[in-house]
Amino acid sequence: MTAGSLTVVGIGPGRLDWCLPDVAARIASASDLVGYHTYLDLVAVETDARRHPSDNRVEADRAVFALDLAAGGGDVVVVSSGDPGVFAMASAVIEQLDRWPERWHDVRLEVVPGVTAAQAVASRVGAPLGHDFCVVSLSDVLKPWEVIERRLDAAAGADFVIALYNPTSRHRPWQLERAVAVLSTHRSPDTPVVVGRDVGRPDEDVRVITLGALAGAGADMRTVIVVGSSTTRVLPDRALGASVYTPRWYGESADQRPVASPNQSTA
Ligand code: SAH
Repeated sequence: MTAGSLTVVGIGPGRLDWCLPDVAARIASASDLVGYHTYLDLVAVETDARRHPSDNRVEADRAVFALDLAAGGGDVVVVSSGDPGVFAMASAVIEQLDRWPERWHDVRLEVVPGVTAAQAVASRVGAPLGHDFCVVSLSDVLKPWEVIERRLDAAAGADFVIALYNPTSRHRPWQLERAVAVLSTHRSPDTPVVVGRDVGRPDEDVRVITLGALAGAGADMRTVIVVGSSTTRVLPDRALGASVYTPRWYGESADQRPVASPNQSTA
């Protein structure tokens, strides 16, 4: 039997119009859709594909299942939220290929990108990711907490803007508070912080607060948090839309800011 294909796609944070046309096309022509049931429910693309929903904690099993379906000749699409390469299924699938190089040798594998949660929440308030930033998951289900703390400490010490994924859950109630304590050894309590819940979904809630207020901000697993760097600013009197940004220049003082000239491209 000729092996089929496996495509890992990201549907973005939740809105169909924030999902790339290529992703929608792959879903529309798929024979099988595999993914966490909540994400499969978010797929609003018309398709005759068979749906194979699964629980959130079985990534490896889901990857093996999808690869086996593809090996049997299917055009299988694995659905992730956001971008499939950011804390999601693309690496889970490739990890299985790495474990058993021969087993799915003939399966063609592709990854199609999506808008990740940090980009989505940043766009809602302006441009907090406008300068160097990094992305850290606070989940210690798959990595030890000491590693997370070390990374937070290093990232905050190097003055990155830091996007926090998987900030806290019922099973992990203390992580966010501990993370705030580590970040606060490098950042002042009035550092701007953006807290976005269900971004791009009907119940979206995006707030701009401070690092000092973050531990009590009521974040959960549907929340992404962007902690500003020392240069991130909130425009004080702007009621209309985007007002948070991290400048593209970097210096000790605002005097080092490049002066715009009408003939200069800043793209
Ligand atoms: N692949 C996804 C991330 C999966 S990890 C992506 O690229 O966005 C799951 C975490 O992503 C959640 O705990 C939350 O921190 C974040 N997240 C995903 N979608 C979100 C949304 N619509 N609003 C806020 N946070 C979201």
